[in-house]
Amino acid sequence: MKTFNDTVQAAKSLESLCDILNSYEREISLSDACDLCSLPIFGKEPKNTMEVFSWNDTHMLIDNGTALEGDDWVLVERCTKCGEADFACICNS
Ligand SMILES: [Zn+2]
Repeated sequence: MKTFNDTVQAAKSLESLCDILNSYEREISLSDACDLCSLPIFGKEPKNTMEVFSWNDTHMLIDNGTALEGDDWVLVERCTKCGEADFACICNS
């Protein structure tokens, strides 16, 4: 039987991974339904992976909610200079 985690691991892009996580229907907690610490990744690893669950070369996937229950997954842009998430960028400080 195909599990939710199988679907997550089969995601072909960061955008579809985000959609899959947001479509989760909360029968059990999302963190029990799939391994949020080993989501598929699609590009160069950033230095700062705090609060970042996955990434590609231009965006990072973060959980914008307080509970890990789906619906709150968003993509944020990576800084084109340092490659970090916009909230972790230090280029202008
Ligand atoms: Zn930067």
